[in-house]
Amino acid sequence: MTRLGSWIEPSQEGIYVRPADAWVDPSVPKLRALVTHGHADHARGGHGEVWATPETLAIMGVRYGEQTGRAVAYGETLRVGEVEVGFVPAGHVLGSAQIVLDYRGERVVVSGDYKRRDDPTCAPFVPVPCDIFITEATFGLPVFRHPDTGSEIDRLLHRLHSDPSRCVLVGAYALGKAQRLIAELRARGHHDPIYYHGAMERLCRLYEELGVPLGELRHTAEATKQEMAGHIVICPPGSLNDRWSRRLPDPVTAMASGWMRIRQRARQRNVELPLIISDHADWDELTQTIRDVAPKEVWITHGREDALMHWCMTHQIKARELNLVGYEDEDE
Ligand SMILES: [Zn+2]
Ligand SMILES: [Zn+2]
Repeated sequence: MTRLGSWIEPSQEGIYVRPADAWVDPSVPKLRALVTHGHADHARGGHGEVWATPETLAIMGVRYGEQTGRAVAYGETLRVGEVEVGFVPAGHVLGSAQIVLDYRGERVVVSGDYKRRDDPTCAPFVPVPCDIFITEATFGLPVFRHPDTGSEIDRLLHRLHSDPSRCVLVGAYALGKAQRLIAELRARGHHDPIYYHGAMERLCRLYEELGVPLGELRHTAEATKQEMAGHIVICPPGSLNDRWSRRLPDPVTAMASGWMRIRQRARQRNVELPLIISDHADWDELTQTIRDVAPKEVWITHGREDALMHWCMTHQIKARELNLVGYEDEDE
């Protein structure tokens, strides 16, 4: 008998699916790429053809120019070479998908990045029972338990309202986190204009074009210092401490990231108000997901794999570390 999943070949350049002659999330240009989602560590430019959800193709279009390839809707199944390929929601960012691969009676699910909690900007994760579940482990340690998102949003609003002469400047990754933060604020009843750094503009517009309403957004370059007092301003994490922020009214520095659980990381960025809002599964979500999809084997792409390897072994599931390089998850 051949080894389970012998037709899947993880390598430094991504996950090669031999009977489809296609790569999942390759880190270098390939003739045929199946892409889970638009974050730069998974979606690179320069592939021959890209198979991805329409939203992911649109996001890649904004970043790298128009893509040649095939848009695959959630739930649609296609044949690529000798493999049946399906895209199923991963709940990570708009358009994010798990890729379901069926070949000769074996099912492999490549989850990409994912989370299990509600996100008003994207379709929720769908667990798909499989033989091999290929997962990330960005927050694969029991210390990582993300708090309730609503209570983090409330802390942000409380801080904003406590001093109307200042603004709260929130660092958030430009794809996914920024739009989710805005949508979560709206869901919590905050309908004031939100100001954004110019780097956020194209992706916020795209989200709205793709049917995710974000309310009234204004460009910081078109506002006076005074107008922004008492408001929320969103910028990429890299702009939190740069010269650009000097034109803001005495900003309270905040950041929305799962990494804000680690005080050291908040201090490094001079973050006064760390908000633990993550687009990745925490420890409980990782282990619950493995229970839900009940695989014979778990393959771990990247992150903190040791504890998850151990957890799998104690639950009689074979686990394997792939140690794929190039998946950064600073995007978190
Ligand atoms: Zn991602
Ligand atoms: Zn990632």
